[in-house]
Amino acid sequence: MEKNYRAELTGCFGDPIDGNPTGVMEEAAFAACNLNWRYMTLKVKAEDLEAAFLGCKAMNFNGLNLTMPHKRNIIPLLDGLTQAAEIIGAVNTVLVRDGKWIGENTDGKGFVTALKMSGAVLTDKAVTILGAGGAARAIAVECALAGAKTVTIINRSAGNGSELAQLIAEKTPAEGIYLPWTPGMDVPAGTDILINATCVGLHPNGHEKPDINYDSITGSMVVSDVVFNPVDPLFLQEARKRGAKTVSGIGMLVQQGALNFTSWTGVAAPVDVMYKTLEAEFGA
Ligand code: NDP
Repeated sequence: MEKNYRAELTGCFGDPIDGNPTGVMEEAAFAACNLNWRYMTLKVKAEDLEAAFLGCKAMNFNGLNLTMPHKRNIIPLLDGLTQAAEIIGAVNTVLVRDGKWIGENTDGKGFVTALKMSGAVLTDKAVTILGAGGAARAIAVECALAGAKTVTIINRSAGNGSELAQLIAEKTPAEGIYLPWTPGMDVPAGTDILINATCVGLHPNGHEKPDINYDSITGSMVVSDVVFNPVDPLFLQEARKRGAKTVSGIGMLVQQGALNFTSWTGVAAPVDVMYKTLEAEFGA
């Protein structure tokens, strides 16, 4: 049989991008599955997005990830969007289907998968999310589509917070509620699942935690954090002290990477390899 030396290509565009760990995880997964695939971590400035995207098409890339500042700006360049990407209004993953370049958003799906893997149930649950940025938006929409009864958004900036709550109310079956963030505020009574979707506590600010009343967290809550570096942020440590079950942000990162891996390659993702690679990366 004739040898095939050609590698299949994927990658990520962003700026800044140097500290993005996804490539390490995807490359470990390709190697574990004996796939001659590569994941290129590429610095692409905002004004160069279209040229870079056309370049990837010309080089027959099999898919892409997008991070800041491209998650919204890629949309007009694509042939279509999945339902979730359409509602969220942002794309973190591009899939190639029958020659069409389709925008997907796997951030929230990765979160929901990690939550369910921990044993948590979303159906008819009250979800409270701290933050209303890109990660919060993807998580809020996917929790609502996965059956949450209410999604309460707590955010400093009223405009972003109320807009996200309205999006949930209008575009999903869940009730969307906005609450302004007052310093040291209580977690709303009746919360089943509490999520920190802000960047508070992210390395190098691992000594910080969201400004809420931690004594309002109860042992019946499931508490999760999008922050994956450090692997066990203070927010989760404080929640565990109150008896809550916690789910780390590394699970979300791994599961969204696993979804992307499978949709690009058609091969089941080696989730354990991906998880261990990232844990080693962050020194857990
Ligand atoms: P954005 O910049 O889009 O949003 C940041 C959010 O955090 C906003 O709601 C902002 O509020 C809020 N915020 C920032 N500082 C504070 C503060 N001091 N107190 C209260 N709220 C604050 O960021 P992203 O949504 O893209 O990213 C958020 C986090 O999610 C990052 O840590 C990122 O690393 C992580 N992430 C994790 C992923 C994973 O797979 N685990 C995937 C994607 C992101 P306001 O609107 O008032 O400014």
